[in-house]
Amino acid sequence: MSVCAVCGAMVRPVFKAPAPELAPDLDFRPGEPARSTLRRWVAECSGCGSAAPDLSTVSPEDAEVVRADAEYAALRTQAPAFARPFLLWALLCQRRDDPWPAAEALLQAAWAADDAEETEWAAAWRRQAAAIWPPSTEIQPRLCLVDIYRRAGEFHQAAAVAESLAQAKLDESSAAILAFQRRLVGERDVGRQLMSSALRPPASRPHVSYQQPRRTAGSGFWHRFFGGG
Ligand SMILES: [Zn+2]
Repeated sequence: MSVCAVCGAMVRPVFKAPAPELAPDLDFRPGEPARSTLRRWVAECSGCGSAAPDLSTVSPEDAEVVRADAEYAALRTQAPAFARPFLLWALLCQRRDDPWPAAEALLQAAWAADDAEETEWAAAWRRQAAAIWPPSTEIQPRLCLVDIYRRAGEFHQAAAVAESLAQAKLDESSAAILAFQRRLVGERDVGRQLMSSALRPPASRPHVSYQQPRRTAGSGFWHRFFGGG
């Protein structure tokens, strides 16, 4: 066990998701067995209501938000339980101007809504994630953003990001994913799609680099995404 930094309650230790063995979705949600552990990625303290991947590292500034922020309090009582920890954690990150974990937590809230078959919430949280998605020159976050817009039904925005990516220098896998995304956007498809569908043969070897994101990164996008550890 570890201890909540806000209230001192005993809380469960930081969860480490198992490495994914199956292909991720186009928005980089990892495949099984990591996929179905989503609900354990962000913990919520039953004592004080703070939320974080690691409750023992919540800062004094975060603690002040947990205690006194009206929006935080409203989320605690009104947010759907299946997504509440992600939304609380996203708000804490926003309050301290930390946009990446905030955006990722909102995307994770959308994934939780997908699992709960709450399609309107899923679309709403994807739009919120897109609205604060930081500008990036990296390819992977921008590919992810295309999928966020597409699955929210924001096809015009998805097409715009895809268009800008098409001007970038892309490796073979990224080019295949982008071509697949543009087709889906053109077809007004909002469904979940696997990375492996974009990378079908002959691009079988590059697939591997997208299949196991957790192992590829000690920093940067992947680390933030599967994060904490
Ligand atoms: Zn607590």
